[in-house]
Amino acid sequence: MAEHAEYKRPLPLPDEETAEYWEGARRHQLIIRRCQDCQYYIHYPKARCPRCRSANVAGSPVSGRGRIYSYSIVHVALAPGFEPPYAVVLVELDEQSDVRILTNLVDCPLDEVRIGMPVEVVYHDVTPETTLPQFRPTRAAEPHRHFQPQPAGNADVAQRPAQPPTREVHG
Ligand SMILES: [Zn+2]
Repeated sequence: MAEHAEYKRPLPLPDEETAEYWEGARRHQLIIRRCQDCQYYIHYPKARCPRCRSANVAGSPVSGRGRIYSYSIVHVALAPGFEPPYAVVLVELDEQSDVRILTNLVDCPLDEVRIGMPVEVVYHDVTPETTLPQFRPTRAAEPHRHFQPQPAGNADVAQRPAQPPTREVHG
């Protein structure tokens, strides 16, 4: 389709460990690998559970709701197709505090991005084969019990994600 031909950003290359995540995204489901023995969510996905060492792991659907754990506003052109400025965020999922997804924040003015902001997944079908999970501020009316507004300002020097937001997982 014409709109897909315009897509210039790098696309994910699913492998054995990440295929279930990307296949879930195509169905508009957020799938996180989970240990079937101790119920621990494993992200990034690994062949064995880091907590109990079980190899009995499988993709499991999650709510797609979470909070911004950390973020960075990118002001320079770092990757093809990403027009600065834009927000790269580390989203901590509601299901488990150490499941953190490096992604883009969309549908949010950059000066409103805050640590702790409740967010929800939204799916961008960028090519016929690829859907990218992205996050936006939560729109549901239900209050988010963890949300603590942070003071304004200093957005550019807020905590940085643990990894530089320059590689394949912008989705
Ligand atoms: Zn386990």
